[in-house]
Amino acid sequence: MLKLIIFLLIGYFALKSIKRILGNGSSTRVPGGRGEADQIDDLMVQDLNCQTYISKRDAVQAVQNGRTFYFCSAKCRDAYLADV
Ligand SMILES: [Zn+2]
Repeated sequence: MLKLIIFLLIGYFALKSIKRILGNGSSTRVPGGRGEADQIDDLMVQDLNCQTYISKRDAVQAVQNGRTFYFCSAKCRDAYLADV
């Protein structure tokens, strides 16, 4: 009888750890629930008006002649686009 209990306990813990490994495999890459888009957005880009580097996620974007430019603020974007 004792052997059966030990066997069941081992089986229970084995199942638990397998579930934990499988669970980690599918969820470690998306801690915030946003995944790959986050990594791409995290690039640093240069503000062409004031030469500051900002993260692409926070940057103000402007498209001109098919090219995308990034700025730290709408003020910089407007100043740069007014210059060109
Ligand atoms: Zn700027």
